[in-house]
Amino acid sequence: MAILYKFTCSCGYQTNACDGKDGCFFVDTLTMTCGRCKELHDVTVRTYERTPLETRGKGTDVAPICPSCGSGDQLTRWKTEGWFRVRPCPKCGKRMSKVGMLALID
Ligand SMILES: [Zn+2]
Ligand SMILES: [Zn+2]
Repeated sequence: MAILYKFTCSCGYQTNACDGKDGCFFVDTLTMTCGRCKELHDVTVRTYERTPLETRGKGTDVAPICPSCGSGDQLTRWKTEGWFRVRPCPKCGKRMSKVGMLALID
């Protein structure tokens, strides 16, 4: 189960993301910014064998790849955790605001 949030920035950029570490049935995702295309993405970092949810299979780490440009070398983890939850806008670097919950994905 993953929760999708909407984020907006004063520069006009807006996007939907899971706000940090989350996972759906068979994948774990991390919210990351791509320095190449300046977009925020939920990127798959781990996949699981398809087993019933209660006995979630062993995970396999996968190299994060930006879904927009197909490259992983410019991806950095979005700052959503710890004392300093900056959530910087990938376009202008200002702090983005969480404006609401969009959907539960399962
Ligand atoms: Zn990219
Ligand atoms: Zn911005």
